[in-house]
Amino acid sequence: MHADIVVLPGDGIGPEVTAAAVAVLQAAGRRYGHTFRFETRLIGGAAIDAEGAPLSDATLDACRKADAILLGAVGGPKWSDGEIRPEQGLLKLRKALGLYANLRPVRTHPVALTASPIKSHLLTGVDMIVVRELTGGVYFGRRTRTDIAASDLCEYTVAEIERVVRRACTLARGRRKFVVSVDKANVLETSRLWRQVATRVARDEFPDVRLEHQLVDSMAMHLIAKPREYDVIVTENMFGDILTDEASMLAGSMGLLPSASLGEGRGGVYEPIHGSAPDIAGRGIANPCGAILSAAMLLRHSLGLDAEARCIEKAVADAIDGGALTADLALTGIAARPPLGTDAMAAAVI
Ligand code: ATP
Ligand code: MG
Repeated sequence: MHADIVVLPGDGIGPEVTAAAVAVLQAAGRRYGHTFRFETRLIGGAAIDAEGAPLSDATLDACRKADAILLGAVGGPKWSDGEIRPEQGLLKLRKALGLYANLRPVRTHPVALTASPIKSHLLTGVDMIVVRELTGGVYFGRRTRTDIAASDLCEYTVAEIERVVRRACTLARGRRKFVVSVDKANVLETSRLWRQVATRVARDEFPDVRLEHQLVDSMAMHLIAKPREYDVIVTENMFGDILTDEASMLAGSMGLLPSASLGEGRGGVYEPIHGSAPDIAGRGIANPCGAILSAAMLLRHSLGLDAEARCIEKAVADAIDGGALTADLALTGIAARPPLGTDAMAAAVI
């Protein structure tokens, strides 16, 4: 097949890890006979410096036309005090493309387990995916502020809940057919609506999928106590923000984890969960696996190339289990030999 992919490297280690992911995509294309055409454009601080805005209209236009978007990371100390913020580029992109579901798979690799702060016998075989709602909730509600008080409004519509629950249940069908919906229905009205809608969607449209409800506070506990039990977790915006960071610690390093932001269409934005990591930028030591696994998600969700995606995921797992470790993993004492740099890690995967 032929596909057009826009690459937005962004700031800090973004360009380093996206270059690695592009190299892996090219290798996969060669192996399976696909042509991927890459168009590289600016976003974030790099775009502010060169184009005066964190996401230009021309770049947004290219993103709209593309089959999928591969992103590095945005932001950094250089722009943190400025009037225009690099992160605005990412929010604008998500909004313009109508991306409402953020998917974060968490898998553990045997060799990387000692890098996690959690006991490894609890972690062996963890394979879950968190689906975070991305457009609603308290992050987008009306805010007020006086000298003595402040408020943030949390709102959800039935339609917003339905579409993200559908997405989670559809994902579960290709997995272990088990969805946990996370809310705070004992306290919040939005959560009571969430629970009601999730129950109806699962019952009427996904009778083959098992749905359970969990309160967010107890979910935070269970994620650490029995992470192996979970398959798909679906939740609203802020709960998802918090739980996905918590879940990322199961895998050992932020540098290992990918994400996808999806809407109704086939397009989507694929990026590692880590930020621009200014402390290690430009040194060629960043772990590219999160970006590479994001590229695998791109193949699966936007291009329908599931076998190719699994091939890349297996290559990453095999490389890590075979001892190919970047500094973020090696520093934890797993590997005796010098750690691999970004390009060498990509080469090991290829
Ligand atoms: P943001 O605000 O953009 O999310 P952050 O403050 O959460 O950024 P990150 O940029 O994600 O921080 O970095 C957090 C820490 O993890 C840093 O010490 C960074 O060096 C390390 N880190 C992040 N990504 C990687 C990676 N791919 N490889 C190695 N180390 C990484
Ligand atoms: Mg962060």
